[in-house]
Amino acid sequence: MSAPRRTAALAGAAVALLSGCTSFAGTLSDPTPPAGSPVPSDADADADADAGSCAERAEPDPDRPEIALDFRLADDLRTVTGTETVVFTPDLDVEELVFRLVPNAPELAATGARLVVDAARGDDVAGSGYEPLAAGEPGGAYVVALDEPLAAGESTEVELDFTLTLGSAGFDRVGADEGVSWWASGFPLLAWEPGVGWARDPFVEVPGETTTSPAADTTVRVSAPADLTVLMTGAQDAPTPADAEGRRTWTSIEQVARDVSVAAGRFTTTEGATPDGVRVTVGVLPEAEETPDELLDATVEAIADLEDFLGPFPYGTLTVPLLPDYGGGIEYPSSILQASPSREVLVHEVAHMWFYGMVGNSQFRDPWLDEAFATWAEAVVNASSAEDLESARGIQGDVGGAMDEFRSQQQYGAFVYGKGGAALLEAREAAGADAFDAAVRCYVENSAWSIATPDDVADALADLPEALEVLEEAGALDG
Ligand SMILES: [Zn+2]
Repeated sequence: MSAPRRTAALAGAAVALLSGCTSFAGTLSDPTPPAGSPVPSDADADADADAGSCAERAEPDPDRPEIALDFRLADDLRTVTGTETVVFTPDLDVEELVFRLVPNAPELAATGARLVVDAARGDDVAGSGYEPLAAGEPGGAYVVALDEPLAAGESTEVELDFTLTLGSAGFDRVGADEGVSWWASGFPLLAWEPGVGWARDPFVEVPGETTTSPAADTTVRVSAPADLTVLMTGAQDAPTPADAEGRRTWTSIEQVARDVSVAAGRFTTTEGATPDGVRVTVGVLPEAEETPDELLDATVEAIADLEDFLGPFPYGTLTVPLLPDYGGGIEYPSSILQASPSREVLVHEVAHMWFYGMVGNSQFRDPWLDEAFATWAEAVVNASSAEDLESARGIQGDVGGAMDEFRSQQQYGAFVYGKGGAALLEAREAAGADAFDAAVRCYVENSAWSIATPDDVADALADLPEALEVLEEAGALDG
């Protein structure tokens, strides 16, 4: 997953599927937005008003975890040490806590990334250790055993010390390059699926997200060399003045988030806001292909285009560090690791703030719930992206496969992004755009801050049999 992979043309359309999360059309050579993009009409706004029982967005679970992350980026910009404090209140009885160590996934480990847990503390902690999850050393999961069972509704607090090695630069969620370091999922990730239990899904050979994590009240603190600017998940306070060691500390304000992204580099930043007050901060490195103002304008525009049919932006802030052009982008709650100057990629990643960020899913079991919907939303906004999906309609295979069912990166991209996005577009045509968008909006509002399932999609589309039929035929929903 360290580099973009070119794949054979799909029915003649020259597309490249990038590892992890990116835009299906994200590698078009011309990132200029097409004229006459199918911007949703006023009729869509009317449909919103007709959404009825789903007009109200669901609130996050009042018993959601509280997670505080304290990171220290070493002066060599290659190592992060940290402490994570978790207050966990399960909705089912548990005997342990399971954390996923995403940087130890095979494709990240191959770049030299490595996440080691140095210590686990807590009044209820009886012991702890690694579990493999099909990954190599030291392990894909870290399990903290409790000295006695924790009943649903009871709370426990656990503290973990960890050391993260960033590995080499490339298109992935953890890395370091000249003057810039980034780490997303760069800590032990609480792998809880409310109502289901611990997510112990294996890592797979196909690069792509495989996590399940609950929305949590999250705060982040980052100590970094004073010449670097930190851009991360959550609204940020101004940094402290440089201390005697030549370091500054950056702190985020509490954010409901299921994961965290941090980038630290010699960013030039600029800030703006959408008309509804979403604060947008972008940063570009020296030699970047975009100016901060260009990136800011494109981000604000992407939010506006998507809000037209998906409803209000999920967060009060969005932070977009532009990394060197490794190709693609990777979504995190209220922050995007943007590694391409492509507008299509940017729209795709901003769409993930709804599909993944707010409406969570098991990225292992139901990867289409975030990737097909983000691809679809990108295509609703960008006519060129919709055209690229035309060629994906005839692909043979099921959209709704789990991550261990895809034989290759190409197959994953073609089935989930390509055919999945195309099937949602086709379902929209079959049901009528206004009715379909209203139903999707219903799904979004009802599933907000939860881990959604395909059944939630089917429920939202229950009154649109034409759309259901398309998604059943595509293997997204069970017939
Ligand atoms: Zn994506």
